[in-house]
Amino acid sequence: MEEIVCKKCGVVNEYKTEYRGKHLTAFCTACGTYIKHIPHVEPAMFFSKKYPDMKISECEDLQYLQWVHEKIKLSNRYKEAVERRIDELEGYKYI
Ligand SMILES: [Zn+2]
Repeated sequence: MEEIVCKKCGVVNEYKTEYRGKHLTAFCTACGTYIKHIPHVEPAMFFSKKYPDMKISECEDLQYLQWVHEKIKLSNRYKEAVERRIDELEGYKYI
């Protein structure tokens, strides 16, 4: 795994990530400086018996995602990805 280094204070792999539009962006946790966009490698839905090889962002099954969101305890990263996908799918519905 690539090391993420803060150019300002030099800490290594001490960063938090936030989504900025479509990008996942790394910020230094020590000094708060923007570090860089990091490649957004989204893992498949390992927690899903129904779609274990599918990525959250590729899932078209809104009801299933809503069920996942309600019933499965996920880490924040996955939870946020599921929430974003639900918003997207609900968005399409109302267009
Ligand atoms: Zn820093």
